[in-house]
Amino acid sequence: MWGAGAPGSSGTVTFQGENGGCPLFPAIDGLDGGLRGAYDVPMAKLFDTHCHLAHGRLRQQVDDVIARAAAAGVTRMICATGDLTDSKAALSIVRERENLWCSAGVHPHEAKDAPEHYLTVLEELAAEPKNIAVGEIGLDYHYDFSPRDAQRRVFAEQLDLARRLGKVVVMHTREAFDDSVGVLRDSGIDTARVVLHCCTEPPENARRALDMGMTISFSGIVTFKKTSELRQAAALVPDDRLLIETDSPFCSPEPVRRMHPNEPANVAHVAARVAAVRGTTPEAIAELTTANALRFFGLGADEKPLTC
Ligand SMILES: [Zn+2]
Repeated sequence: MWGAGAPGSSGTVTFQGENGGCPLFPAIDGLDGGLRGAYDVPMAKLFDTHCHLAHGRLRQQVDDVIARAAAAGVTRMICATGDLTDSKAALSIVRERENLWCSAGVHPHEAKDAPEHYLTVLEELAAEPKNIAVGEIGLDYHYDFSPRDAQRRVFAEQLDLARRLGKVVVMHTREAFDDSVGVLRDSGIDTARVVLHCCTEPPENARRALDMGMTISFSGIVTFKKTSELRQAAALVPDDRLLIETDSPFCSPEPVRRMHPNEPANVAHVAARVAAVRGTTPEAIAELTTANALRFFGLGADEKPLTC
């Protein structure tokens, strides 16, 4: 998710929780059993694989955001990006911090504004050890902020870059699944090195992505009342292909859906809901998805604790 059209991108701040404003310890009345776990005990080893810390609404309070994430059991994060300025800003945030990494890429919303030299810039950024993926890239026919031919061209060019550089890909696709698959196929990229981030696809498309070898990441959208099909998709992903994320500052999960901006601490709610639909515990999901993320993104497991 990226930019002005994303759900949760409007509205006002912040934390009304207790304990110094931590969102994970407000009153828990009215929550179902699956969510209670996320509140009662901060879970160990959560990995928010997709958050936009360089987005204005998080960047201005980034140390506090990271501290709240750490307090909620988040030990690692990947800062996703949507254009060149954002990619540079993200790198500057993660460069000196333990257990934070970033991606670099041009989002389909920004495809029409990609400067001529954008691939050169992305290649330079890709040389940085903390920059571990190309993304988020893909197609968005829901908002159509860029003409579709520009979206397809910029997606294909960045897939080619990822293939050349041996980087994994963070893919955004919205109401454009068939075309996304088409561009992926034409690119010759190893689709086992692609994560379908912030999945909003029905089970049949999730199945197709899995058949192509992709990993699938679920955001707070999986907690929304009306997304039962997405929960079916979350139930069918094999253990070793599952990731979780916040996509913050967008997509605040239930039961803090009105909180804007969303932030990485809330990945605990995503873990809790995914656990409930898969008949397991939030702790097990935290453990599993952290191991998957370390493997998928090629990261060592022995990093130091998250600090801000
Ligand atoms: Zn995003």
